[in-house]
Amino acid sequence: MTRDQLMKVLEEIVVVVEENKEFFTDLDQAIGDGDHGINLNRGFKAVKEKLSSVRDKDCGTILKTVAMSLISTVGGASGPLYGTAFMKAGAVVAGKEEITVEDSIKIFDEAIQGIIARGKASCGDKTMLDALIPAFEAWKTAFEEGESIEDASQKMLEAAYQGVEYTKTIAANKGRANYLGERSIGHQDPGATSSYFMLKAIVDVMTK
Ligand code: ADP
Ligand code: MG
Ligand code: MG
Repeated sequence: MTRDQLMKVLEEIVVVVEENKEFFTDLDQAIGDGDHGINLNRGFKAVKEKLSSVRDKDCGTILKTVAMSLISTVGGASGPLYGTAFMKAGAVVAGKEEITVEDSIKIFDEAIQGIIARGKASCGDKTMLDALIPAFEAWKTAFEEGESIEDASQKMLEAAYQGVEYTKTIAANKGRANYLGERSIGHQDPGATSSYFMLKAIVDVMTK
């Protein structure tokens, strides 16, 4: 992924978050406080404003700029969590003009570790991690098995999608939805859903 493609991916995420803000907020209304779409849209609006100033910078700087924008503008839990993920991602490709497949695996891994370190959740807690961890595993495994980028992308997205579906079947252990306990069963997690949409935005831009 070149720097220009990274910029396109980020611009696509801005658009996708805007388009789905009501959907994310409705999901959060059911099991949280109904602001996930508002939070993310505020954050990615700020990202959009900052992106033009780093267009010619390295991938690490671009990703860190995204992180800072999210951390400083999103009030909810998701801001610092996604912010940390982008910060960790940026550190992997500091000074680089391009992101290789190997980098992408490291980025994905580091981003997830950052979210875990920050939020202390794990798989099965009904959070964004339930989409991200299986997606990462599928992505990594696909390359270990010699699959093409296209096939790996589809497997990664399918795993993320199944992860979102899985969140419908479990009770929340972390975040606001945790207050609902068993009553959160039957609802998909807003953060897992927004993670799926972000991954889909990456694939859409890269396989167009
Ligand atoms: P808030 O809950 O503070 O209003 P948002 O509504 O923006 O923040 O984000 C809620 C989402 O954040 C949840 O759907 C969940 O996916 C994610 N989340 C909450 N707490 C954690 C955590 N500790 N670890 C990982 N993800 C979390
Ligand atoms: Mg919320
Ligand atoms: Mg909130």
